[in-house]
Amino acid sequence: MSKQTLSFQAEVAQLLHLVTHSLYSNKEIFLRELISNASDACDKLRFEALNDTSLFENAPNLEVRVSFDKEAKTLTIADNGIGMSQQEAIDNLGTIAKSGTREFVKKLSGDQKSDSQLIGQFGVGFYSGFIVADKITVETRRAGAKPEEGVRWVSGGTGDFEVEAINKAQRGTSVILHLRDDAEEFANTYRIKSIIGKYSDHISLPVLMQKEEWDSDKSEYVTKDEWEAVNQASALWARPKKDITPEQYNEFYKQIAYDQADPLAYTHNKVEGNQEYTQLLYIPAHAPMDLWDRQKSAGVKLYVKRVFIMDDAESLMPPYLRFVNGVIDSNDLPLNVSRELLQESRDVKAIREGSTKRVLGMLEELANSEDAAQKEKYAAFYKEFGAVLKEGLGEDFTNRERIAKLARYASTQSDTATVSLSEYKARMKEGQKAIYYLTSETLGTARSSPQLEAFKKKGIEVLLMTDRVDEWTLSFLREFDGTPMQSVAKGAVDLGDLQDEAEKKAAEIAAENFKPVIEKLKEALKDKADDVRVTTRLVDSPACLVVRDGGMSTQLARMLKQAGQAAPDSKPILEVNAEHALAKKLHSLIGTESQFGDLAMILFDQALLAEGGMPDDPAAYVKRVNAMIA
Ligand code: ADP
Repeated sequence: MSKQTLSFQAEVAQLLHLVTHSLYSNKEIFLRELISNASDACDKLRFEALNDTSLFENAPNLEVRVSFDKEAKTLTIADNGIGMSQQEAIDNLGTIAKSGTREFVKKLSGDQKSDSQLIGQFGVGFYSGFIVADKITVETRRAGAKPEEGVRWVSGGTGDFEVEAINKAQRGTSVILHLRDDAEEFANTYRIKSIIGKYSDHISLPVLMQKEEWDSDKSEYVTKDEWEAVNQASALWARPKKDITPEQYNEFYKQIAYDQADPLAYTHNKVEGNQEYTQLLYIPAHAPMDLWDRQKSAGVKLYVKRVFIMDDAESLMPPYLRFVNGVIDSNDLPLNVSRELLQESRDVKAIREGSTKRVLGMLEELANSEDAAQKEKYAAFYKEFGAVLKEGLGEDFTNRERIAKLARYASTQSDTATVSLSEYKARMKEGQKAIYYLTSETLGTARSSPQLEAFKKKGIEVLLMTDRVDEWTLSFLREFDGTPMQSVAKGAVDLGDLQDEAEKKAAEIAAENFKPVIEKLKEALKDKADDVRVTTRLVDSPACLVVRDGGMSTQLARMLKQAGQAAPDSKPILEVNAEHALAKKLHSLIGTESQFGDLAMILFDQALLAEGGMPDDPAAYVKRVNAMIA
């Protein structure tokens, strides 16, 4: 087969441009990325060879060799892993397969400064080679393929790349970097060794380099034909905790999570008992781009007795902890375990439950710490992942109480600070029987909602919930620690013992006097409102909408409709403030059909607007208001 020239996918070209233009301040990471790819390739071979040992081609010792040629100015990273077929080389090195990375590239603004901050959160993988090389040659052959089925892939890292067939005796992949003039420092044993020590010490296979010897005749170091391992090559998680420094934990995280920032927290344990396994689990500092994709599984890698089995093993973490990264290494699972098998396995279920508890424990430790720095970490965590964690309220029955304690909400008590349900309970007013909350699309709408008026007047705190997931989780979280959760927008407001006798009496009298107006309003709004009643909920506003106790909130119904899903077409209840000037005006209009009708409609539409909704017929609403003003 002759040489072909192919173009990079547009996103790759974009990424390449960015890599070469914004990562030069941290050039050395290219080596970590390429060694990590080599290590992944060896893991893949080890895994495929479980079913077909012939793939080892009688050379089962997996390793990475790093070498350089000072004259030719090349640095080579060679592995004897799975290798690539021609099509794989074209696909893997010419396109971006991962949706997360594609999303990321879409977000790039072209502004170098902000882009390079963004890229810091991403693994740039193979393309990072172009930070130090102006040309990369990849020679590869898939394990099990014939020597003549080797491929050479060459690119200068701009618009296109070439591929051609070659003979390659040894399976695996060699990445040959043709070093740029300003990257010649990397053709140096000492430099390379120190980078490997920093980033790749813990990868589980040996990274080999040629030994060097001082040649006094030439008065320089010469390389010998003898290779030695330059990394520890022991799985980090398998070492005793006391032998691992925080830096090593952080470096390991960065490698497995493709993140350049340190993790927020980690937990490392050897679990013994029915199931024996080691867990090393991390909470990242930043949310990945695809956090909202519920299909995304946690970045937990499954190993069995140190052999890599699979990435992103979804059965090892519940979906609401999908932000967790790390490694679980089981001593008991079979090596040939498949994704399907994992889903059904009781052993895996036990591991998942154990790991879930560990992660929740790690979060509780941060949240409950007396130490300000730890508390701040929790706040940072919550800002990034709180809405995902709350999904657990609906998903994880066993741990609901623990998750509820970890939840934080905005509240009428403070413009900035958030509150936990326990804190809320601790400062409930004498006689207050429920935890009050209001769901809304934005914090702004929530804070100015008429539904809060009576609560504000009485100084009763109301939680303001604005995450999309809140509505759904509240259908599971009916009470907290024995106190019911009560929406201020559902059912008749009952401040119970919080209201004094005089207030109750006054309300009753007002309601009695207002009865004829209510009857007429019911008639005028019979197509829109399920019921009309007088309320003590309001202070400054004329009216508001509520739903029946146990009914679906208007907010949730609206969200469902926006998402194109069926929502019950239940009508809200209009509650009217009999003390308000508009209510009095209504009273005076009782004899005039059309004017009463118009004002009734305005009242209803305004109540809808005040809670962030839209009148059915906005133009008609405007017309009525204008007529009224004129
Ligand atoms: P990532 O490793 O994050 O998937 P990369 O850009 O680093 O992204 O690599 C893209 C793909 O190229 C890899 O997923 C893998 O399939 C393939 N690849 C890269 N390096 C090697 C290698 N040394 N051996 C075999 N395949 C490789």
